[in-house]
Amino acid sequence: MVIGMKKLILLCFCLIFVGCTSSNQDKVKTLIEEDKNVLIGINYPITNIPNLDRIIEKEVKNIYNHFNEEYGNFNSLKEKSELNIDYHYNIIKNRYHNISLNVFIDSSFLAHPNNYVKTYVYDQKEDKLLTLGDIVPKDQMKTIASIVTSYLFEHYSDCILMDELKQKINDDPNSYSNFILTKDKLLLYFERAEITASYCGIIEVPIDYHKIGLNHLIDDNQQVMIDTIKQEKRNLDPNGKYIALTFDDGPSIYTKNLIEYLHSRNAKATFFILGNKVIPYKDTLMLSLSYGNELGNHSYNHKWLRKLGINDFVNQIDKTQTIMKETLGYTPVLMRPTYGDVTDEMRKHTSLDIALWNIDTMDWKYKSVNKIVSRALSNVKDGNIILMHDIHKRTIDAVKKIVPKLEEMGYQLVTVSELREIQMLRYLNEL
Ligand code: ZN
Repeated sequence: MVIGMKKLILLCFCLIFVGCTSSNQDKVKTLIEEDKNVLIGINYPITNIPNLDRIIEKEVKNIYNHFNEEYGNFNSLKEKSELNIDYHYNIIKNRYHNISLNVFIDSSFLAHPNNYVKTYVYDQKEDKLLTLGDIVPKDQMKTIASIVTSYLFEHYSDCILMDELKQKINDDPNSYSNFILTKDKLLLYFERAEITASYCGIIEVPIDYHKIGLNHLIDDNQQVMIDTIKQEKRNLDPNGKYIALTFDDGPSIYTKNLIEYLHSRNAKATFFILGNKVIPYKDTLMLSLSYGNELGNHSYNHKWLRKLGINDFVNQIDKTQTIMKETLGYTPVLMRPTYGDVTDEMRKHTSLDIALWNIDTMDWKYKSVNKIVSRALSNVKDGNIILMHDIHKRTIDAVKKIVPKLEEMGYQLVTVSELREIQMLRYLNEL
């Protein structure tokens, strides 16, 4: 009886410990930097498998350092150079962790943007990276070669490089270095100019597991669609004084603490989030919505939107809208362009309201909490929108000083949409 009780207590401790660690661990690392020569937007996943995280972090660091060496001091008269790293991450069968890093580099140094993919399939049980040979039986390599060939002829017949293709598709599984596993398919990647002319870009060839004897990898876990979320509308007095705090590039490990703090002060804020962080931070975002905060669209992966073609721009926005709707049951009405850079053409091609800011705290640059606080407060006026980023701990520390000060000054903290509504009411009252 006594032993049973001890076991129960121990189990409770374990559960609390597991619960705490999982909510305290970061899920996606984000780095956004801007200086006179370069724009950098990087997102990569944290798997909490030490070996795998070390490998990914090392790779990202290498790319970042190499880019800075190459372009950091290159003062182009035309445009800044851009580095963007985006990721895809999924886990199959609770065991195989699949990551692809999608690297994009553009510079007026280059005739065309350079983009490439790097993939990692990590077996958590064996604690090692897998090659294609570890996964696909050798006698299936001929089937893979014929699937790749027919896929290329069907989709890329105008740009196949025949000699390269012949060399690439052989019986050696290790000649395929870029691949990941999804719930029902193996995806093979080929770099630009590897087997097709470079203008066809990176090629992704999907191969159904059942065609190559990998039925045991099929993963039936389906994502459940959720209902539309309803937020209560507040009645705000148009004669009051209002400020909108806004946070870009999140969520992050710090966001939960921030929203709990804001909630405790009855303050609402607007978060411009990245589409590629919606699923990993679903719980934080749902909590944020339940507290009455607003979520806005800040693109899928923080590419420099103005530099994209209009189709890619629309795709970045739509993909983020869809993932938010399907994951959170919430559809944003606001969009904040990355690096605050927006054109009339972009405005014409989105139905979302563009939300910029009046006060830039530069919290991504300044490491001092007091500096961030004074930048937020020194020229603040009724109706202002303040820009911050909830991916830095110092920003959360600064908010805890900014909010009480704003309250003392008589301001109420509202979302950007609430602020717009108040401005509309004031306008109508003047008529
Ligand atoms: Zn941003």
